Amino acid sequence: MKAVAATLPLPYGPEDIRLYFEIATDRNVLLTFMEGSSSIVSWRETQEGSLSIRLHRILLGADEAVFSELAEGIRKDRSRFPLVRELIRRNREALLRTGQGKARVSTKGRVYELDRIYGDINGRYFGNRVTAGITWGRNSRRRNVRQRTLGCYDERAHLIRINPCLDRKSIPLYVLENVVYHEMLHAYLGIRTVGGRRRMHTDRFRRMERSFLHYEKARKWEKDHGYR
Ligand SMILES: [Zn+2]
Repeated sequence: MKAVAATLPLPYGPEDIRLYFEIATDRNVLLTFMEGSSSIVSWRETQEGSLSIRLHRILLGADEAVFSELAEGIRKDRSRFPLVRELIRRNREALLRTGQGKARVSTKGRVYELDRIYGDINGRYFGNRVTAGITWGRNSRRRNVRQRTLGCYDERAHLIRINPCLDRKSIPLYVLENVVYHEMLHAYLGIRTVGGRRRMHTDRFRRMERSFLHYEKARKWEKDHGYR
């Protein structure tokens, strides 16, 4: 039971929403607004025991009822959000645009379904704590195989992009999984800036990278086939 009912002042800002969630969930809340991410809402527990909530910017301006629904779902750790779904339906156009212009999310390839691979790895290696979206990137014909980036994690959009050149029958599943795992690890660990330099592949990263079951095999395959 909550002693204080959460209410949102009008007009409200991001900090009001964060406080609203704190009262409604009775937890310490860290709130981040995302743009162009594939997910509208995601949450996880931080190591310090706070609740880290990510919301799509489209929710800024929503009715209090929407936040009440979200808080309730987050409190009970379930994700059925009819009001949010309705809001998304009405804003579909705006959602397909991002800060940069257009980030469409497509996970279903001709051979591989990224969301299934992502979900599988998230459960197996990350306790379902990775909240980034994932999508097949667009084809880029200008680059040749040797210069290709197989995957990348876009921190601003909180989105993993996988090169569609991996969506082929000739690519073993474990090779694709290894690339997805690598990018999920970036999303999971975040990108640290040390002395003004972005440090992506820290020692910890390199250690954790090797926990992927087929790490060595996948690296060897990439090497043998000219991907590195
Ligand atoms: Zn990397």
